[in-house]
Amino acid sequence: MKAKAIRINRTGGPEVMEYVDVEVGDPGPGEARVRQHAIGLNFIDVYFRTGLYPMPLPAGLGQEGAGVVEAVGEGVTHVKPGDRVAYAGRPNGAYSELRVMPADILLKLPDAIGFETAAAMMLQGLTVQYLFNRTYKIKSGETILFHAAAGGVGLIACQWARAVGVNLIGTVGSKEKAELAKAHGAAHVINYNTEDIVQRVMEITNGEKVPVVYDSVGKDTFTRSLDCLRPLGLMVSFGNSSGAVPPFSLSELASRGSLYITRPSLAHYAARREDLEAMAADLFDMVASGKVKIEVNQKFPLADAAKAHIALESRQTTGSTILLP
Ligand code: NDP
Repeated sequence: MKAKAIRINRTGGPEVMEYVDVEVGDPGPGEARVRQHAIGLNFIDVYFRTGLYPMPLPAGLGQEGAGVVEAVGEGVTHVKPGDRVAYAGRPNGAYSELRVMPADILLKLPDAIGFETAAAMMLQGLTVQYLFNRTYKIKSGETILFHAAAGGVGLIACQWARAVGVNLIGTVGSKEKAELAKAHGAAHVINYNTEDIVQRVMEITNGEKVPVVYDSVGKDTFTRSLDCLRPLGLMVSFGNSSGAVPPFSLSELASRGSLYITRPSLAHYAARREDLEAMAADLFDMVASGKVKIEVNQKFPLADAAKAHIALESRQTTGSTILLP
């Protein structure tokens, strides 16, 4: 059967995305066909579109969605036709009305969580879940630094930190975004376009600095993030919205106090089904209990995916963004 989808034949700007008819077949062994009701937009989609993250072309885009299972292939038992499901993860191809995909990343949605919320929260929410529980276990009373605090991952992180009693210092690029991050639980906010991040972190922590920095901005903030860490602190470099971090010397870690560094990816933390289910249960609980509210601040028709990319890349968005088939 035919479905509308976004395809790219080459990497480049938003204009390389084409809204086309694709043929969707029956699911093979281990696969499911999902009728999508909402699709999540994530910065990783930009990295694949520009070629920062290479992939074979032509290709689809998108790693997150929510909808209803239409059919399952041989060996699939954890979901069945009619189930409401959501997912985050590879392969790319979520920007589509209908898709055949690996069933092992599908999770049944609790009744309390709607499709739009689910599509907006799976990738960003599972990311905050592992960053705060496994990459570095944040503890009540601690003060941490989290960049891009008014973004999709950021607003979830602000609320999650507040819920567990952690003082999150959030960085943002404008006054409006500062207010938004504060309203969502950031204990302190730094505008990195107008303020000195390191000096402000020193003031807020009485010169002690922080035990962990979560940095998804990359190139523009990397060195300053290292400067905000106390000895033996952990640098979590988990994204590159401003560009990839250039190579650096390990002695940079020694001179700042035997620092640690990690470059984590959700794909590895969620690779085992039992881990994925436990992470999702924690996220669903945070959302269903109201501790974390998913802010879907932008919605675009799937056909306008290019406009959505332009908004995300030009820092016009806050919270999460979804595409509607
Ligand atoms: P966001 O909604 O956070 O959008 C990115 C934000 O980054 C912008 O709004 C902007 O906020 C800030 N930013 C700083 N510099 C730039 C720049 N030069 N160009 C564009 N934006 C910039 O996106 P997501 O929530 O989708 O993702 C946040 C980050 O987390 C991304 O880097 C993403 O790749 C990463 N990520 C990593 C995962 C992992 O497992 N490793 C999983 C999920 C996300 P401001 O205006 O306030 O500066």
